[in-house]
Amino acid sequence: MPLPGEGEVLVRVKVAGICGSDLHIYQGERADVALPRILGHELVGEVESTGGGADRFSKGDRVTIDPVVSCGNCVSCRRGYDNLCGTVKCLGVQVDGGYCDFIVVPEEKVYALPSSLPWEKAALIEPFSIAAEVLSRSEVREGDKVLVLGAGTIGLCILQAMKLAGAEVLASDFVDGRLEKAKALGADRVVNSKTGDLSAALREFTGEFGADVVIEAVGLPRLLEESLGYAAPGGRIVVLGFNPEPAKIPEVLVVKKELKIIGSRMNCRKFPQVIEWFEKGLVNPEPLISATYPFEKINDAFKDILRDPQKYLKVLITY
Ligand code: MN
Repeated sequence: MPLPGEGEVLVRVKVAGICGSDLHIYQGERADVALPRILGHELVGEVESTGGGADRFSKGDRVTIDPVVSCGNCVSCRRGYDNLCGTVKCLGVQVDGGYCDFIVVPEEKVYALPSSLPWEKAALIEPFSIAAEVLSRSEVREGDKVLVLGAGTIGLCILQAMKLAGAEVLASDFVDGRLEKAKALGADRVVNSKTGDLSAALREFTGEFGADVVIEAVGLPRLLEESLGYAAPGGRIVVLGFNPEPAKIPEVLVVKKELKIIGSRMNCRKFPQVIEWFEKGLVNPEPLISATYPFEKINDAFKDILRDPQKYLKVLITY
């Protein structure tokens, strides 16, 4: 049993999500992650105890945890960019996370949950914080035409965030089931990029002009390359994957259309905004939950997802 130190909170984990990045780490595909590591960064739980000075919370409080751990002192932190901290770490990635019974975290990373919000839904707050970051980074405006490449969990969170901002969204994927979800969650148009024609769908959607915003929510260099063609003059392309393979990006295309290629990393203080979305029912996390496994079966959960990745969106672990 870990003990909370000064300014820290001890949380008993109740539900944890499995993220695509957890699968990559599990398979040894993340060279930047030292092993062994306790994974788990999409966490909700109950406060068990608090250390000195951490008096915003008390035992039994229902909370979620922002997994972005920053130093608070470096230039980026002082500028307010916690997620760009010089020594930034993500809980469950570069430091041990929440696939365990108890976790100690700094109080400022702990957020109270709305009382009516069930644990399972609340576990989706972190994935939606990724979407909130993409939303702010994209500078999307009402009426913008947005192309979301990839309708996995993150793509479907981004789609919902874009609709909140008043954008029109075309979502693409090669799994029809995901596109049906996208449609149900507000996509104005969907296209299967394997069996259909994405370029033609985009032309119909934007009238030859191209997308004001393209979100590359898959994490493939090839899709970033293609995004240059999908973007409208003056368009923005947002990337959020961690793929280390280089993309071939012709300078001339970026210049001729004055494109912006924008990175979006984890989230920067977006938890309050996302919790408000959940509280007001502005987003719908429920269709994103594909399966729930008890903690004792977490290895089965990972194996099942890896055996048939297309079958699952968010898989949750309950404690
Ligand atoms: Mn995640």
